[in-house]
Amino acid sequence: MYEVYALKYGERDTTTCQFFYRETSHAPLTLDYFVWLILGGPHPVLVDTGFREDDAQKRGIRNYVSPAAVVERAGVKPDQIPMALISHLHYDHWAGHSLFPKADFWVQQDEVAFWTGPFAREPAFSASANVEALSRLVTLNYASRMRIIHGDHEVLPGIRVHRVGGHTAGLQIVSVQTARGTVVLTSDASHFYRNVETRQPVQIITSLPEMLAAFETIHALAGKEKLIVAGHDPQVAERFTRVEDGIIKIA
Ligand SMILES: [Zn+2]
Repeated sequence: MYEVYALKYGERDTTTCQFFYRETSHAPLTLDYFVWLILGGPHPVLVDTGFREDDAQKRGIRNYVSPAAVVERAGVKPDQIPMALISHLHYDHWAGHSLFPKADFWVQQDEVAFWTGPFAREPAFSASANVEALSRLVTLNYASRMRIIHGDHEVLPGIRVHRVGGHTAGLQIVSVQTARGTVVLTSDASHFYRNVETRQPVQIITSLPEMLAAFETIHALAGKEKLIVAGHDPQVAERFTRVEDGIIKIA
């Protein structure tokens, strides 16, 4: 049976009107930044890679620590991770890939197509891009380290990716079978619990219907145990078990 950990590597302050769809309130909002680690299988599995110091500086991130350092604190050396499931290619999920030098990266074909396609350069989308990190998609692919998949896929027994789109063109979420039930790592299919629980979208979207459908997919996958891990919500630390600073055990 698998164990799942949320590993926090930074924080950023914004306001609700900058974030939630058609929200008018100026109330403050803090985003936590996470990668997720799945242990207990034949090898560790990382979900997303975070970002490096350059993005932390550029984007006003508080309390940044390298995602590699947090993974190491959780007991796994970054160069001992052979598999990283990439929810989507925004900077905060992909730009840290070089911190994990032995990993293959599993990403949806729609996601790769979008960020190498005609709309990626538009400011509405490019604000979420680390262009240098995106350019590495090509070299990593020719080095046979990209696993470009289309649709739902079982990557190991009991660990599945599910393409939902919505927030980005090929966003995928991850379900993991654990002793406590099915853990659903939503990543940015639900940045906050408020998204999935009240069906409120965020402002960064490629498809609003897909984002709304993704909320239903999350609930269906989670079942009655409701082990839903929102992608950027500080509440993750309250709803699950804090092991030590920045390390939260989900199941
Ligand atoms: Zn994100």
